[in-house]
Amino acid sequence: MKIKIQITVESDKGQPKVVQEVAHLDRFILRPETLGLTLAEARSILAGIEQRVVEQQAAEFMAQQRTCSRCGRERSYKGRHHIVFRTPFGKLRLESPRLYHCQCESDGRTSFSPLASYCRSAVPRSWYIWRPSLLLLFLTGSQSSS
Ligand SMILES: [Zn+2]
Repeated sequence: MKIKIQITVESDKGQPKVVQEVAHLDRFILRPETLGLTLAEARSILAGIEQRVVEQQAAEFMAQQRTCSRCGRERSYKGRHHIVFRTPFGKLRLESPRLYHCQCESDGRTSFSPLASYCRSAVPRSWYIWRPSLLLLFLTGSQSSS
């Protein structure tokens, strides 16, 4: 049996749905060790979901930043570089475009990196709440005795 783990992203702006594969699993003969997910598979799936979600959020954020919020004109690209964003599942490498400020904001010759600025200022919520024991509890399910 082949199992595909996919995510579907629906835009608020009416763009077509984006379906991305996160992982695939092959299961053949049922054995205790092949029943369900291994911890490594679960971690890999979560890391894959995190990567796709962050990429989509970054793309949507950059699409918003591309237009000047004052006059609505499109800002020009100066270039692009990569930034590293840390998550509980590892480091994500994201493409970070550099844009020229609009002429209504400045003389139009200065530039900025909206995504890099945002990532520097945003401390992921998950840094505060993530603990390995909580992740393990999440992955195995709670075992309450009533
Ligand atoms: Zn403008």
